Amino acid sequence: MRQPVIAANWKLNKTIQEAHAFIEDFKPLVADITNVEIVVCPVFTALAATSDAAKGSNIATGAQDIFWKDNGAYTGEISAPFLKDAGAQYVIIGHSERRGRFGVPEADLEGDAGKIFGDTDASVNAKIKATLAHDLIPIICVGETLDERETNRTDAVIEAQVKAALAGIDGVEKTIFAYEPVWAIGTGKTCDSVEAGRVCGFIRNVIGNVTNQEVSAAVRIQYGGSVKAENAAELLSHPDIDGALVGGASLKAETFAPIVEAASD
Ligand code: 13P
Repeated sequence: MRQPVIAANWKLNKTIQEAHAFIEDFKPLVADITNVEIVVCPVFTALAATSDAAKGSNIATGAQDIFWKDNGAYTGEISAPFLKDAGAQYVIIGHSERRGRFGVPEADLEGDAGKIFGDTDASVNAKIKATLAHDLIPIICVGETLDERETNRTDAVIEAQVKAALAGIDGVEKTIFAYEPVWAIGTGKTCDSVEAGRVCGFIRNVIGNVTNQEVSAAVRIQYGGSVKAENAAELLSHPDIDGALVGGASLKAETFAPIVEAASD
């Protein structure tokens, strides 16, 4: 039986103080839930404080990105040893916002400067390797754009992303995947549960093809994209959906807790 995992991706929100207040509000709401892994991913600067606030509870913390080198002349980067030092146990990798598939700041910045969010399949693969090498759990994001969906390329895009992510990886059973259709992120448009479940099942098949059935049966696959209390139970009832990666609805304890509860039922 796969343990559901519900993760909050706070993106660029919440100061240290706000993160601390969230954990204090959220802890009692989920204190009795023992059958769901709960993860909160704050901004880097609030990670250590959030981990401290959650210490001793059933809430774990994660980072929103990672660099694959441990140390060195990499100004502005953050790597696994520092994330562990700040108490993180999980790392979101290859979010579409970091793959430059959504909101590329080309309108803000000209030329190559617009590529600052340039995660590629190769960098995602390197980040997963670094994460696993340090016993952190990667939450690997994949998903198609609206154009890719409308031109019937969803499965091909997802297959390519999953295969590239897992190239040369040992310990695939420890990974978590998140299926996040780019068109459903922050838009209020949820992928319907049948299609979300179908794609999560497809991801599991691809994982099985590059590893084996035992490994693919162990990997948790989340759905992400406009998940909220109202649609969580239906999405999570699909046998191939093992959790959720939640943006907007994770920013308040009272909107995030019901999603955790839905996974616990
Ligand atoms: P929303 O839940 O705000 O659509 O964000 C989803 C997401 O990108 C989580 O990583």
